[in-house]
Amino acid sequence: MDEDELIEGLRSGELRLYELEDKADAGTAATARRRFVEEETGADLSAVGDYTFPAEAADANVENMVGAAQVPMGVAGPVTVHGGAAEGEYHLPLATTEGALVASVNRGLSTVDRAGGTDARVTDHGMTRAPVFRVSGIAEASEVVEWVDDNQAALAEAAESTTSHGELLAADPYVVGDNVFVRFVYDTKDAMGMNMATIASEAACEVVERETPAEQVALSGNLCTDKKPAAINAVEGRGRTVTADVEVPRETVRERLNTTPEAIAEANTRKNLTGSAKAASLGFNAQAANVVAAAFLATGQDAAQVVEGANAITTVEAREDALYAAISLASLEVGTVGGGTKLPTQSAGLDVVGHRGGGDPPGNNADALAEVIATGALAGELSLLAALASRHLASAHESLGR
Ligand code: NAP
Repeated sequence: MDEDELIEGLRSGELRLYELEDKADAGTAATARRRFVEEETGADLSAVGDYTFPAEAADANVENMVGAAQVPMGVAGPVTVHGGAAEGEYHLPLATTEGALVASVNRGLSTVDRAGGTDARVTDHGMTRAPVFRVSGIAEASEVVEWVDDNQAALAEAAESTTSHGELLAADPYVVGDNVFVRFVYDTKDAMGMNMATIASEAACEVVERETPAEQVALSGNLCTDKKPAAINAVEGRGRTVTADVEVPRETVRERLNTTPEAIAEANTRKNLTGSAKAASLGFNAQAANVVAAAFLATGQDAAQVVEGANAITTVEAREDALYAAISLASLEVGTVGGGTKLPTQSAGLDVVGHRGGGDPPGNNADALAEVIATGALAGELSLLAALASRHLASAHESLGR
């Protein structure tokens, strides 16, 4: 069918919005749907329709496509990263609508780079899925826990039969009354891994149901925890647990950030640590979510997982002749394959970082991306803390400290 026929079908009710791809190619379907929505709502969607990639490219990423929401992309850097996987000079693409964010990160990165760059390491990784099972009571629950603990190899065999990359690292049972949760933890290599972990967990659940009295109620029991603020991710980690740190000479702090190590440390303690503690926050940082969100949009990550990506603690110390600063992101869920990373503009974003597709060895590219994002997040912390500190605290420290 052509565009006009599709629109007529929508008007008459013969076709539903989601049926157009059955009658025409993805580009024609998106155009017809867009024109129909324009008619129905009076909105001008010409800018939404002015996108550069073939509509087919987004087949697995969106339904009822009408076009693309375009977010401006800037770039910050260069910065040197000495990582476990990342090594060398990096630029970080950032897609955002918040003016001043890229400038702020850029100022931080230039400070970090002047200081020799960051050290960055992924210290833990594991994508999780935690189904919930029904049992009759605590007696059955303890039977299930014992079986799960004793049969990790059987669970791994079932889970890994569904994937050529994923590995089951652990299956941790939790009991609440007549509920048993099993938190499956996977090494998903270069994939963020949520689809992979879900499919693998389904296979493992079949074994649990076959071998124990447990009956699965939901494949996700929210103890995973995906896309909801949850202490378990901040404590146990999810995706990549990554830290970037730097030691910036006192002189560079003065030149680039117009303040002192002591003033930045005080701002960090009072704001990021004490303020966040008083607020019972899971994020003990100044603006990690800003950098994580912008980097996620630029590189095709799942935007909703910024919820977990913001579980970060910034630590700062005034050392004798320098400022030590670090950010530890407990649950940064990133991939360089799968999901939105395949879309043309997002894969170009990964090319800017220099880590797209499968790594060698597998997992290396996603580790490197995590280390570069952590470096960007650290830069954002330094820049914002310095901006806060220089307003009131620097002069006080200059006069009080002498
Ligand atoms: P995916 O696009 O579903 O799959 C990635 C696949 O790429 C892997 O399963 C793997 O296939 C293959 N692959 C090729 N080279 C690889 C390498 N070097 N390392 C790892 N895998 C490699 O992506 P996903 O990361 O599993 O899931 C991301 C998607 O899940 C996003 O679109 C996100 O929006 C969505 N999501 C889903 C859920 C859910 O509950 N299902 C929740 C949140 C988000 P093999 O497994 O065959 O080896």
